[in-house]
Amino acid sequence: MRAVVFERYGEPAQVRDVPDPRPADHGAVVRVEATGLCRSDWHGWQGHDPDITLPHVPGHELAGVVESVGPRVRDWRPGDRVTVPFVCACGTCASCAAGDHQICERQTQPGFTHWGSFAQYVALDHADVNLVAVPQGMSFATAASLGCRFATAFRAVVQQGRAGAGEWVAVHGCGGVGLSAVMIAAASGARVVAVDVSPRALALAREFGAAECVDATGTPDTAAAIRDLTGGGAHVSLDALGSPATCAASVGSLRRRGRHVQVGLLPSPDGTTPVPMARAIALELELLGSHGMAAHTYPPMLELVEAGTLRPDLLVTSTITLAAAPDALAAMGTAPGSGVTVIEPWG
Ligand SMILES: [Zn+2]
Ligand SMILES: [Zn+2]
Repeated sequence: MRAVVFERYGEPAQVRDVPDPRPADHGAVVRVEATGLCRSDWHGWQGHDPDITLPHVPGHELAGVVESVGPRVRDWRPGDRVTVPFVCACGTCASCAAGDHQICERQTQPGFTHWGSFAQYVALDHADVNLVAVPQGMSFATAASLGCRFATAFRAVVQQGRAGAGEWVAVHGCGGVGLSAVMIAAASGARVVAVDVSPRALALAREFGAAECVDATGTPDTAAAIRDLTGGGAHVSLDALGSPATCAASVGSLRRRGRHVQVGLLPSPDGTTPVPMARAIALELELLGSHGMAAHTYPPMLELVEAGTLRPDLLVTSTITLAAAPDALAAMGTAPGSGVTVIEPWG
């Protein structure tokens, strides 16, 4: 099969022929019809993820058709249209038993713990636990966008952030996950303040339901600007980019007893990021993480998509071939772009 491969961190990836994957006993191999390009792929390519070994094939937001299954798979067969959360759970550890598959103790992640979906085929573990049927009317490109950023944003806003109707939700960073969060929070009846440095990203945020936009380029203190706009601070604030500055701005933009949700990854040389804990104490803030979403919690989100209340299809702003993927991966570092780029490996 054709795949995007990198041999060294940070050096250009190449498209070349590699052996087709085979399914594990409990796993499936999926023919990839669409796969999203996410900033986490860029972090992996930069060497920020200790799970990755070289050479490596990135890619973790995917949808496609089951090509083959292992002998212990009961629920899926070749030809099924599927997607998958980027955290593939074991289904049997204590976290999985509690329903928290997104933090499985024995999780695997395509594109991180093993070769991913910037390829014509990808192997996925524990198919009966992790595969999600893609509704007939939904395109593969739309379904692929659900796998990481849209589902992560849904969990961050709805399940972790518990954003309620009429509440203010601040979203720091309007790339793919941030714009997803804007759309989901607005659909929940919340009033959204979107923050970004890109006028194009802010225009999309307004299109997707943001009530207020803050251009961080011309605003030295975005947290203060949000406190002003919201009459004292947001009820829920998401760092959807992942940087010490946006993390601090998110915590700083909350009102008393507000909820900060860290969504963007925060790599740093010593593995820690400063967080304004004095403010967390004085205002009794909640500081929450969000890590994907369990496959078994997809149905309510899929119903909202099928009803047209949520429109992940609008987030897909460009579609490229496998040949264009290495350059697009490299560009994620400096210009994450607005919206979601989807790769079609057979295009
Ligand atoms: Zn587990
Ligand atoms: Zn991702």
